[in-house]
Amino acid sequence: MKHKGFRFGLGLLLLSLAACSTSPTGRRQLLLYSDNDVAQLGLTSFEQLKKQTKVSKNAKQTKFVQCVAKAVTEQIPAQYSNRPAQWEVVLFDDPQINAFALPGGRIGVYSGLLGIAKGQDQLAAVIGHEVSHVLAKHSNERLSQSQVANLGMVAADMALGSSGYRQPAMAALGVGVQVGVLLPYGREQETEADLLGLSLMANAGFDPRQAVTLWQNMAQSHKGKQQPELLSTHPSDGTRIQAIQQLLPRVMPLYQAARQAGRQPKCQ
Ligand SMILES: [Zn+2]
Repeated sequence: MKHKGFRFGLGLLLLSLAACSTSPTGRRQLLLYSDNDVAQLGLTSFEQLKKQTKVSKNAKQTKFVQCVAKAVTEQIPAQYSNRPAQWEVVLFDDPQINAFALPGGRIGVYSGLLGIAKGQDQLAAVIGHEVSHVLAKHSNERLSQSQVANLGMVAADMALGSSGYRQPAMAALGVGVQVGVLLPYGREQETEADLLGLSLMANAGFDPRQAVTLWQNMAQSHKGKQQPELLSTHPSDGTRIQAIQQLLPRVMPLYQAARQAGRQPKCQ
């Protein structure tokens, strides 16, 4: 038994070493899945969502959302290994105050959000933030964290020399379909998505100062009412708006440069 325990530990160690990466802001991440596996998961989740939720028939609003999403996603730097070749953008006819982006290149916006995100700059703030969760591989990270318990089993497989490593890991991914979409992001992930998202929107020529107004609107909207669904998956606190304000001097020059370079989106 002792011998087996040693090999088990060794397997776990090897797996951790293989899976340790660095996020775009220099944070250490445990990533157990390949970009392709996570993209596949995103695509499957999105197809399920499209079956469960009504797609909007409002052509004007759909065009507006797609215009903002296109301008933002065009600014994704090529350095991201998981950058999707193209994005599908769907407006759902649903009163939820919510939006999301999924690995593999899918963006979903609920029509309820359009009552809170007023104008193209505020919507760009949400989309930039959501897309940044994808680029920084936060779903992969969340799935990896939630599978750490199961990892023991995987590591045991490895240590015992069976070829079962990939099989249980992929089975775990199947279980994670809902997890990838619905589990709240962590505080560090939120901060990272805020920073990356502000840069993206600014580079696209959207006014990053409107991100402050957006999050203020979001906080205001649930005074005495149910909280926006977006806030249940994106934990926020009082210091967040302040943190975004402090980031503005860093991203305003990007915004000004984008405007000068002719990136002046007019999504209506
Ligand atoms: Zn978030």
